[in-house]
Amino acid sequence: MTDTIKIKLNVPREILEITEALQNKGFLAYLVGGCVRDSLIGREPKDWDITTNATPEQIIPLFAKTVYENKFGTVTVINEKTEDNKLKNVEVTPFRTEANYSDRRHPDEIKFSDKLEDDLSRRDFTINALAYNPEAGELIDLYGGIRDIKDKVIGTVGEADKRFTEDALRMLRAIRFACELRFMCNKEVLDSISRNNALIKEISAERIRDEFVKIIDSPEPMNGLILAHQTGLLNHILPELEKGIGMEQKGEHVYDIWEHTVRALQHAADRGYPLHVKLATLLHDLGKVKTRRPGLKGKEFTFYGHEVVGERIAIDFMARLKFPNKLADLVVKMVRNHMFFADPDKITLSAVRRVIVNVGPENIWDLMNLRICDRIGMGRPKEEPYRLRKYESMIEEALRAPTSVGMLKIDGKQIMTVTHETPGPKVGHILNALLEEALNNPDINTVEYLEKRAIELAKLDEKALKELADKGKSKKEEVEKGEIKKIRTKYRVK
Ligand code: ATP
Ligand code: MG
Repeated sequence: MTDTIKIKLNVPREILEITEALQNKGFLAYLVGGCVRDSLIGREPKDWDITTNATPEQIIPLFAKTVYENKFGTVTVINEKTEDNKLKNVEVTPFRTEANYSDRRHPDEIKFSDKLEDDLSRRDFTINALAYNPEAGELIDLYGGIRDIKDKVIGTVGEADKRFTEDALRMLRAIRFACELRFMCNKEVLDSISRNNALIKEISAERIRDEFVKIIDSPEPMNGLILAHQTGLLNHILPELEKGIGMEQKGEHVYDIWEHTVRALQHAADRGYPLHVKLATLLHDLGKVKTRRPGLKGKEFTFYGHEVVGERIAIDFMARLKFPNKLADLVVKMVRNHMFFADPDKITLSAVRRVIVNVGPENIWDLMNLRICDRIGMGRPKEEPYRLRKYESMIEEALRAPTSVGMLKIDGKQIMTVTHETPGPKVGHILNALLEEALNNPDINTVEYLEKRAIELAKLDEKALKELADKGKSKKEEVEKGEIKKIRTKYRVK
């Protein structure tokens, strides 16, 4: 082979043990695909794939524990000695050559080959078609993958038109790698996608979803969506988003619905928010397209109920791409509730509580983060303004357990048991009197002390007990006020 470069790549010992086991038996063994690409770029590989001229029957006996995947001839070598997931399951696949793709999805049959060249030629992009022999320290680059890594370019192995018609998912993968690696697709790739985008319709929802999610979850989702739009792919995946192009919003917004969305999403990526926040950001305003109406009195447009229409769009999109139910439900809930951030002068604590119940307390800060992205997508400066801090403060106030007799390690029932009192105001007085003591000295909040003290309090005359109870109530209010003041100070709001 001519395109062989001497180079030393850092390969974990656990992986070298596998390639050495194969080589010791006289087989060829190469690292291939994403791990070679990422090592050259200086990214940490997600997993390590090995390709070999050994057949599955020859691979299996070389390792203590393996799992055989019949469909692709892949043998997964299980390394139980490591805790690192990337090294635990290592896929060893015989050199393969792929015959025809009459359905544009799957090769008609998978054939093993004894030549590395065959295996590399079936791979999608030049940067993914590099193989590395760790023993010899040799990199095999038959398609200019190293040059493309240097130039930060995504180019196909062979003619783009041919490769994209064979397997249409590769079009979306081209964009995915461009955003994940911050590379550019070359002109041939872009032109070919523009010609062939409709073929993506033949690809299963699950495969589209997995690549689309990687675009959304990449460092550059904004570029990814722009590319997907320009090449015509987005039209087959999320046409609802494209309908927002050129649809002005005015008012608080400087951008149209489309640009607002992609900028908001980019902010979610820049902030490193989790996937569900990104998906909710992507979908949150799509209901605006259908709800836009001319507004009255200086308001150019209104979008009343867009979160309800948007909820339908989100349900539909998540189902279309067969997202798991749990993720879909969460994203839909966030879209439905993203409008609770109304005017901070009008919003009440009970309204905030209702939203917390609707999205779940575990998701309320994610909803807040969606709101932050939403705001940046309007073209606002990065600093948090008063109104955002006010929402945050209200969320924290609503989430905290209020100061109350519920904090005591004893309840009315236990008090009645130890004091033999019957239900009535006296039990409440005892609880409030106990609360006063516990607020002054949290150490006494033990079942043992409180039971003993309840018996003593029950013996006081009504007036004395009532006085203690009233002191408890005002102490409670004082503590409550102090706690809320602390929260408001933290967020610098009134
Ligand atoms: P990642 O690090 O994101 O997993 P990767 O390069 O490993 O990136 P995979 O989807 O795991 O990507 O695929 C592994 C390798 O298999 C690719 O590098 C590529 O060589 C090859 N490959 C995967 N899917 C295709 C495809 N549809 N057509 C051709 N080759 C493919
Ligand atoms: Mg991979």
